[in-house]
Amino acid sequence: MTRRIHNFNPGPAALPLSVLEEVQAEMLDFRGSGMSILEISHRSDLFGEVLTETRNRARRLFGLPDNYRVLFIQGGASLQFAMAPLNLLGEKDRADYINTGTWATKAFEQAILLGKKVRYAASSEEKAFSFIPKTADFDPEARYVHITSNNTIRGTQWQTYPDTHGIPLVCDMCSDIFSRPVPVEKFGLIYAGAQKNMGPAGLTLVIIREDLLGWNPEAVMPTLLRYKTYSDHYSMYNTPPCFGIYVAEKVLAWLEKDIGGLENMAALNRAKADRLYGAIDATDFYAGTAAKEDRSLMNVTFRLRNHDLEPLFIKEALAAGLGGLKGHKSVGGCRASLYNATGMDAVESLVAFMQDFERRMG
Ligand code: PMP
Repeated sequence: MTRRIHNFNPGPAALPLSVLEEVQAEMLDFRGSGMSILEISHRSDLFGEVLTETRNRARRLFGLPDNYRVLFIQGGASLQFAMAPLNLLGEKDRADYINTGTWATKAFEQAILLGKKVRYAASSEEKAFSFIPKTADFDPEARYVHITSNNTIRGTQWQTYPDTHGIPLVCDMCSDIFSRPVPVEKFGLIYAGAQKNMGPAGLTLVIIREDLLGWNPEAVMPTLLRYKTYSDHYSMYNTPPCFGIYVAEKVLAWLEKDIGGLENMAALNRAKADRLYGAIDATDFYAGTAAKEDRSLMNVTFRLRNHDLEPLFIKEALAAGLGGLKGHKSVGGCRASLYNATGMDAVESLVAFMQDFERRMG
């Protein structure tokens, strides 16, 4: 018998049950082809339709203006740490980065590795990345400002994006893409691995403003590291991550049709996070780790007052059907990831478990 648990994994993470069921139902015969999506040519009309649908759904959900392109790339967000500076910065160009934790640091380090002129305009390192910087010293000549919209490990999130005085934002949106509406005009480039709010690992979504495609034309770059290659070839220069695109199309359809778009999704995500943070704040048995005003709606990071009880908490939670609550290995503690597909029922079950655990151990 199939048994599904409440899934609080940080990524890869929960997918809507209806999406998994559709994938299962279509596995042997996709749209009357007599083959699964895994077995058909990426050049077939059938796959072409899926690709176009996925792109159009992403465009509609984001409300993308015509001068933005949607690209499907492989290599994860980590490859984007390198592709962004490689494509956007010429020899003399400069860019600013804001350091809000591990992934932001890794993005910066790739730009340094490539010999690019980048610096931190702000950082929250002095308080263990527990907050989002409220001021920054932007270089008016910077080509872009790089931010990480949601810090998966530390549990902080930009509630409003920084005012960069017109400098385009380049944003790692891995762990909150499609969780809320986004003021797209502020962004030159958005990238995200699919494995949190969009689908399986192996697919990376890139949204890029058209004029940025030609920002570093003189650079010698491998063909597959150029955004322009993907843009010119409809993300089909070579074989794209077909299965990831296929699942993403279904997740985005669920967002459009069942949820009703990003405003609705944001309200649901707010309600889930409020419920869990409320339960954490109601007792000193648990404590949130991020500054309250910067708390992530996606990754709720918390500790037990008695850290020694955390392994037991995580073990008993799993036995009770609540999985994925271990904090990232670099920081320890607990983390409940509340991505789009993790519903209020999961949050209610977690809160009930936390209250029961406190009664027994407190
Ligand atoms: N950025 C953020 C914010 C992340 O959470 C992660 C993965 N957890 C990454 C980048 C790295 O993504 P990938 O594994 O797809 O390279």
